[in-house]
Amino acid sequence: MKGKMKNRLSLFATMATFILPMISASATASTNVIVMISDGASFGAWDAADLYEYGTTCASPYFGSEWSKYLMTTYPLNTSSTPTGSMTPMVGYDPSRAWGLASYNTSSGYLHQNAADSAAAGTALSTGQKTYNNAINWSNLNAPIMPTLPELAKANGKVVGTISSVQWSHATPAAFSDAHDVSRNNYEAIANDMLNGNVMDVIMGAGNPDYTNNGTLKTSGQDYKYVGGQTVWNQLNTDTHPNDWKSIQTKSEFEALANGDLSILNGKTRLVGTAQVATTLQQARSGYSHTDTVFSDPFNVSVPSLVTMTLAALNVLQHLDNGNGIFLQIEGGAVDWAAHANQTSRLVEEQLDFNNAVKAVINWIENNGGWENNLLIVTTDHGNSMPSGESSNIIPHERISRDNINAGTYTSSNPNGVRWWSGNHTNELVPLFARGYGADRFAALVDGIDSNFDLYYSDWAAMGFNGCYIDNTDVFVVASSVIPEPATVVILGLGSVLMLVRKKQ
Ligand SMILES: [Zn+2]
Repeated sequence: MKGKMKNRLSLFATMATFILPMISASATASTNVIVMISDGASFGAWDAADLYEYGTTCASPYFGSEWSKYLMTTYPLNTSSTPTGSMTPMVGYDPSRAWGLASYNTSSGYLHQNAADSAAAGTALSTGQKTYNNAINWSNLNAPIMPTLPELAKANGKVVGTISSVQWSHATPAAFSDAHDVSRNNYEAIANDMLNGNVMDVIMGAGNPDYTNNGTLKTSGQDYKYVGGQTVWNQLNTDTHPNDWKSIQTKSEFEALANGDLSILNGKTRLVGTAQVATTLQQARSGYSHTDTVFSDPFNVSVPSLVTMTLAALNVLQHLDNGNGIFLQIEGGAVDWAAHANQTSRLVEEQLDFNNAVKAVINWIENNGGWENNLLIVTTDHGNSMPSGESSNIIPHERISRDNINAGTYTSSNPNGVRWWSGNHTNELVPLFARGYGADRFAALVDGIDSNFDLYYSDWAAMGFNGCYIDNTDVFVVASSVIPEPATVVILGLGSVLMLVRKKQ
């Protein structure tokens, strides 16, 4: 009897030791999860950048056949700016009302109603819960929503970053942090939530109180709210913040990190980078006119690009990673700002910077574990103003051409420019591109099919957008399912079995 038991245990041990290497082989590295958000990018924003760079639409790398592609709804729970106390959805997306000129070209048109703001949309992406506009990880029942993807990532041992081309305490980077606030406008409190918790390891963006939108030094009128107040700003810049932050500001510091020189960390375990510019890296610099061409206004020379920030953040996170992987949110935040202002040339510039950041991430992934160990999601949080061709007479609208972009923005005196249908957020479907570990999980989450989509976006349809749409909350569903994987639990389980077997033997 004893011998029989021993044989059985030995057999089990043999099986276990045989299985373990197989499991381990598919889990040699922990999964990295990277979410990239081009804020406020209607289809026209993606089209315009690709037309400018490639001469044709649907040419960016994420249109490749290896990518999962879905349309996505972005509407909030309701359009209140404060909690209303009910979890009943008040708005939605109805494909039967979304198409046709009336939906587009008046401020009362269907797609101009019920849009999300970046706070509610960011919260939905980061927590899987819809809420009122203005909420930063805050529910319509007036309570914090937890966990956010960064909180979940940190609980699973990952290192966590959030970076943006606008103020780092702005709605999208804040939603992808451990900040929880009833209003996105409480910037100082949000910044301090991000700095004082134990979740964030890397924060980067604009919002520097000491600089103008042109990157020149301010001598008066400094506004410290985006960086947590004057006292906190002073602590950061004297390396005395109690939460061990290393603060950087200069372009050369961002570039050093992007080039792999991490000596500036000097033993610090957290890094906050606040570029030397007020609100956006480039979009809010002076000199814009509606007849500008792309890159016609000189760039601010003293700030990093989103690409540089992206590489810097990846290098720091990789340096801090203890083997459980990284979570990083990267926002092209000023795409939205250019859209609000109907700035065609700057929309293209901002989307190009975002696309370059995507390319940098793709390259990084292919050199750091490959797609089986990384999940990359590229999307936007909502549409904005639906930039399109110059004609208002084609239903539902004419697509942007390269000639439109060269002409700038449509005005009565500039009739060949890109036409903008509003200066506000819109409720049309938006694209989502996903590739890597777990990207196939979106397939189970499709909510419906917009059967008109391919009539107007046949080029997008040809690249795999077949009208199926998911919801923005599904980004949380998929990313949160991937964050604890691959197979950490399974390995621990097998490890326990082995230990048990060995003990009994
Ligand atoms: Zn937004």
